[in-house]
Amino acid sequence: MYNTFADVQAALEKGLSVQDILNTYLKNIEDRKDLNAFLEVFETSAKEKAEEVDEKLKNGTAGRLAGMIIGIKDNICYKNHRVSAGSKILEGFESLYSATVVERLLEEDAIIIGRLNCDEFAMGSSSENSAYGSVRNAVNEDYVPGGSSGGSASAVAAQLCTVALGSDTGGSIRQPASFTGTIGLKPTYGRVSRYGLIAYASSFDQIGPFSNSVEDAALVTEIMAGKDEFDSTVSSKEVGSFAPEPLKRKLKIAYIKETLDTDGIDPEIKGRIEQLVNCLRADGHELIPVSFQYLEHMVPTYYVLTTAEASSNLARFDGVHYGYRSQDAQGVEDTYVKSRTEGFGVEVKRRIMTGTFVLSHGYYDAYYSKGQKVRRLIQDRTNEILSKNDVILLPTAPTTAFQLNAVKDPIQMYLQDIFTVQANLSGNPAISLPIGQHSNGMPFGLQLIGSHFKEKELMDASSFLMDFC
Ligand code: GLN
Repeated sequence: MYNTFADVQAALEKGLSVQDILNTYLKNIEDRKDLNAFLEVFETSAKEKAEEVDEKLKNGTAGRLAGMIIGIKDNICYKNHRVSAGSKILEGFESLYSATVVERLLEEDAIIIGRLNCDEFAMGSSSENSAYGSVRNAVNEDYVPGGSSGGSASAVAAQLCTVALGSDTGGSIRQPASFTGTIGLKPTYGRVSRYGLIAYASSFDQIGPFSNSVEDAALVTEIMAGKDEFDSTVSSKEVGSFAPEPLKRKLKIAYIKETLDTDGIDPEIKGRIEQLVNCLRADGHELIPVSFQYLEHMVPTYYVLTTAEASSNLARFDGVHYGYRSQDAQGVEDTYVKSRTEGFGVEVKRRIMTGTFVLSHGYYDAYYSKGQKVRRLIQDRTNEILSKNDVILLPTAPTTAFQLNAVKDPIQMYLQDIFTVQANLSGNPAISLPIGQHSNGMPFGLQLIGSHFKEKELMDASSFLMDFC
């Protein structure tokens, strides 16, 4: 079993081939089918690539990710491979092109091992909204792995791949990382191309990695990042190296008081964060309590804006262009209605309807415009805090993973996102780092939010914290 890319590289040094390493991972996947993490293993293309990389290693021409085995969330396109966004409406659909991130990883000789289960169209916090069954948490199968990138999180926790890609619109990388004891990074909005990512809410979505080391998250993000002619929202800013280095000075860390005072937070998570704050202070770092007056407005603002974007993005799934088409529809209108009725799940329908409502004539100003204004206030306040501090520290999620089928009320589920949506509303990079284990046996994470495009500094601080904890 390999926990990190360093472990894979050590095995290669010892004389194992990439094909041997791939076979170990394939066996692990077979052994952990019960997790329902993989929707499909790309065995043929992975084996072909492994053979090619072994050849390149012999010739000394291999890329920087030679031997890294990567799983991709089922909303990221890989040419000539199926992709379904966890939805029946895309059943059987095969992508005609690869996402930019996939191209870049393959260019550096990573192996794409398969596609990972997730909430339908990345909408959810538990991975129970997939049309292909719930994902189980690798730490304890009675629990959810978080969502929406639950398959990615569980796969990395169970060592079914070295790194997995997820997408994060409101916390879908960080919250499942917290639930499974893995590391999850959402880069700055505009750092990584979204070309080939099936859109949920385009002004929020970012692709990022799950890993078992800060180094692996940094390396994969660095390779995926940077200007892309297929996505005009990607910044042309220089990428540089994201590899973590030892701190050169003590950190200035802001922590948001309201996140610890809120009713919903688990006392053990709160206690662990308070303890960490005290230890860091004792170690000479500056820890500054700050106020964030918009905490209670965060989730409503996020859901108004993302459902609006989703209702527009999901209009293309009409039973004509892609995937599923209703068998008993008569004519065009009926095809649209029946295909969408049969193809989408309950949560996706709820969001399309909510989004259509907030955009409708008469309600647009009250909801959508208002939401945009609150988003700006949240952005401004976040930037203001970060102009005086290196990072913001807060919990990743208010609770640990919960048991399957335990949370039935959608509003209760939405409240899972209370601490993660800030970084999506403001576009800042944010990471979840495993920092504790609850008395219920489940892990939980701590979140750091960094300044825009300061992934390198965020990696330095993360690496320090992982050793410190
Ligand atoms: N849980 C959030 C939601 O349901 C986040 C989803 C995501 O980041 N893709 O919208």
